[in-house]
Amino acid sequence: MSSNWDAHHRRVVIEPATRHFLKLVWNVQMRTSILRGLRCFCPACGRGRLYRTYLKPYERCEICHAPIGSVRADDGPTWLTVLALGPVLIILTMTIAGANLSPWISYPLLAGLIIILVIGALPRAKGLFIGALWGIQH
Ligand SMILES: [Zn+2]
Repeated sequence: MSSNWDAHHRRVVIEPATRHFLKLVWNVQMRTSILRGLRCFCPACGRGRLYRTYLKPYERCEICHAPIGSVRADDGPTWLTVLALGPVLIILTMTIAGANLSPWISYPLLAGLIIILVIGALPRAKGLFIGALWGIQH
C-alpha cells in the first residue's frame, strides 16, 4: 500500500496529476469568485447583488450583466449547510440542555437559534457554490 505521507520531510506528497488539477482549479480568480459568492454578491464583478429574493439569484447581474442565473448549485448548499452547522448545533443543543432551563424556555430558544443560523447560512452556502461553479466555468 502506498502512502502520500513523506515522513522524512513531514509533509503530504501530492501526485503530479492532482497538483496540476489543483493549480487549474484553485487560483486567484476562483478564490475571488468564491469570496464574492460567500458575501452574496455577483461572482463576476463583486458589485451586483446575487439574489433577487431570499435564495433566487438574478438571471443576469444588475451591474455587469453576467448570466449568474444560469449557474445551478442544486443540492450543494443544503449539504454544506448541514455539514457546517451540524457540529455547531450539537454544541448549542448540549449547552442549552446543560443549562437546566425550563422546557418552556429552552425549546423555543433552541428552535429559534437553529432557524436563525440555518436561514443565515443557506444563502452564503449557495453563494459559495455559485462562486465556485462560476470560477470553474469562467
Ligand atoms: Zn456582476
